[in-house]
Amino acid sequence: MSVVTAHQSSSISPVMPTYNRADLAFDHGEGCYLVTGDGQRYLDFAAGIAVNALGHNHPHLVQALKGQGEKLWHVSNLYRIPEAERLAQRLVEHSFADTMFLTNSGAEAWECGVKVIRKYFSHQGQPERFRIICVDGAFHGRTMAGISATRQTKMIDGFGPLLDGFDVVPFGDLGAIVSAIGPETAAIHLEPIQGEGGIRPLDASFLQAVRALCDEHGLLLYLDEVQCGMGRTGKLFAHEWAGITPDVVSAAKGIGGGFPLGACLTTAGAAAGMVAGSHGSTYGGNPLASAVGNAVLDVLLEPGFLDQVADTGDRLRAALTSLHQRFSVIETVRGAGLMLGLKLTDQLAAGDLVAALRERHLLTVPASDNTVRLLPPLIIEQTHIDEALTALEDSLASLMSTTKTMEGASP
Ligand code: PLP
Repeated sequence: MSVVTAHQSSSISPVMPTYNRADLAFDHGEGCYLVTGDGQRYLDFAAGIAVNALGHNHPHLVQALKGQGEKLWHVSNLYRIPEAERLAQRLVEHSFADTMFLTNSGAEAWECGVKVIRKYFSHQGQPERFRIICVDGAFHGRTMAGISATRQTKMIDGFGPLLDGFDVVPFGDLGAIVSAIGPETAAIHLEPIQGEGGIRPLDASFLQAVRALCDEHGLLLYLDEVQCGMGRTGKLFAHEWAGITPDVVSAAKGIGGGFPLGACLTTAGAAAGMVAGSHGSTYGGNPLASAVGNAVLDVLLEPGFLDQVADTGDRLRAALTSLHQRFSVIETVRGAGLMLGLKLTDQLAAGDLVAALRERHLLTVPASDNTVRLLPPLIIEQTHIDEALTALEDSLASLMSTTKTMEGASP
């Protein structure tokens, strides 16, 4: 192994090369499309990884951003922020939560949830209860706590020692969760639908059973809805489909429609220890971010909007299911609402399908478990579904004919 000293100059891009970026840059967005500088249009079924909930350049969001931008961008959380108060009040009215901490990202929202849980038990005189049961394949962001709650090598390699306090159990294994509960356990933590993990949903009955377990053992139920929340499944929060009430939820991505914003939502009881000085953020919930967050909510909460998301999701799913019947490389179609995944067999790598789709000007996102994620803006229409289906059909047909030719070729 060659040794590189920290001050040694070597060739590295000015932007730290932590991403395998496609050689593609966009100039602007129009609704569900992204457009390159030379006018090439791409149908965006990636939506900035489930962020651009209302697509690009949504007039209501642009108006809110411009309006607030000309008034006041930022003040410290040392002062009252009416836009943030309004955003929090509205989210409280439409969710299980009584209170929330506003952040700039999903990782911060998630980490706040961990702190709320630890504080809750220490506040109750049980500081020894700090362990959180987490699930294999989950993704909670790239902070030290976030990566400590996963076992994915690429995320943790070289970053140790990891933070103590996370017990990772296999996905969808209730028995493993039961076995992991001990005297130091504080909470059970799940993504109702794993995003990066490959669009892996948990059944309503599983979530209900975990809620019951939490009640039986006096544990908090913490859900990560950074990817599956904010209307993506056709309910404001994905757990609503299971009819359960969590104690803590992290949200982000769609909440700001593209403006960096996140929220850690909790019940009053769970947040009992979160008093002045216990947590903070310079930017979290600043006037600009909160104004955009309110504008996103204006649309999400319009009567019928979320039902429309569920309905569009059903139609996209039906279209994908028809592909599943025709292309054996699709092992299964899974997810909910407009958070759908094509799990592929080992005959085709998800990354290859994503690249082929990109060549046909359809943007999607690869995920673990050899899955292609379809996370379009929540405002897509039937024409977008049809266009995506054509790109998928063409890509799959072309990739399959290549595979067959290669299989048929003599050595
Ligand atoms: N939690 C989940 C479920 C996510 O999908 C993500 C990001 O993809 C995060 C947390 C981290 O969010 P961020 O990248 O905004 O920090």
